[in-house]
Amino acid sequence: TFKAVVVDKGDQGYSCGFRSFDDAELMEGDVTVRVTHSTVNYKDGLALTGKAPVVRRFPMIPGIDFAGVVEASSHPDYKPGDPVVLNGWGVGETHLGGYAERARVKGDWLIPLPKGLSAAQAMAIGTAGYTAALAVIALERHGLTPERGPAVVTGAAGGVGSVAIALLAKRGWRVIASTGRPHEADYLRGLGADEIIDRAELTGPGKPLAKERWAAGVDSVGSTTLANVLSMTRYNGAIAACGLAQGMDLPTSVAPFILRGVALLGVDSVMASKERRFEAWALLERDLEPSRLAAITTTIPFDEVIGMGAKILAGEVRGRVVVEIG
Ligand code: NAP
Repeated sequence: TFKAVVVDKGDQGYSCGFRSFDDAELMEGDVTVRVTHSTVNYKDGLALTGKAPVVRRFPMIPGIDFAGVVEASSHPDYKPGDPVVLNGWGVGETHLGGYAERARVKGDWLIPLPKGLSAAQAMAIGTAGYTAALAVIALERHGLTPERGPAVVTGAAGGVGSVAIALLAKRGWRVIASTGRPHEADYLRGLGADEIIDRAELTGPGKPLAKERWAAGVDSVGSTTLANVLSMTRYNGAIAACGLAQGMDLPTSVAPFILRGVALLGVDSVMASKERRFEAWALLERDLEPSRLAAITTTIPFDEVIGMGAKILAGEVRGRVVVEIG
């Protein structure tokens, strides 16, 4: 048996707690991993609290990411002792996840731990950081370069936001960070932000078009914020949409698209191809400075993970949280 966080749904409603889990209860998969580290993403907050129906199988072990060491494998790419990382693929939603000392998954979902990173660093990046990398790649693949103008990052002090700032700044972008936490201005400047704006400037109902302020953006907030960000995007600019921390809605108009040629680029990390994943992790390995990664990271013991769920949904988590599992 091994220790795991388990969420369940029964007559008493949604429950979440630690319990010992049996190996025989693990789901199908050709690789068994001894999990050493996991992390807390916004989606993990939803799973831990039951605030939104991201868990679609009960009982479930939440945790959409993990890093660890292969214990047993019948997959040709992995053998016992190999360090591996997993992000997404429905793990922690439909397949038992990372908040456990052991996980069994499809080897095709894993990637080898990037050579330049420790397991703890890989989880400090986690799905939030890897998504930020996918967003930066999407913007640059669209043809945008730092010469075109600044990039805005919303939800700046959150996980996706913090990593996006560090990556964009390292790649030469002038970064405008939008945050509801002005007291984190020094933190954001330390990551490479050049300008800090109050997120209240972007959360209200906006006009279809407003003064052009940026050429690119990484948005983890959605709703009126994304609508305003689009309305303020320069001619032929683009915004990568990653999240919904403010809301799932998008009350915009076609004006930015048809009058300014603005593009809205969708970013999904869960089902992203292996090729895209390798590209994102290579970018992170190359352009995310270890000192900046350390600056955004808080480490907690396994026993404290459940309480982080409500905290991240309340927007109280700064940067990224690493969970030490084993
Ligand atoms: P996070 O650490 O909680 O960051 C979200 C940030 O958004 C908060 O720190 C806060 O930043 C801001 N925020 C929170 N509530 C807000 C509100 N009501 N109005 C405006 N801003 C608000 O979460 P995360 O793990 O980085 O994830 C961010 C979002 O991306 C989530 O919606 C998540 O589901 C999504 N996501 C999507 C993918 C994908 O595959 N597309 C992958 C990972 C994450 P400030 O305090 O600085 O304002």
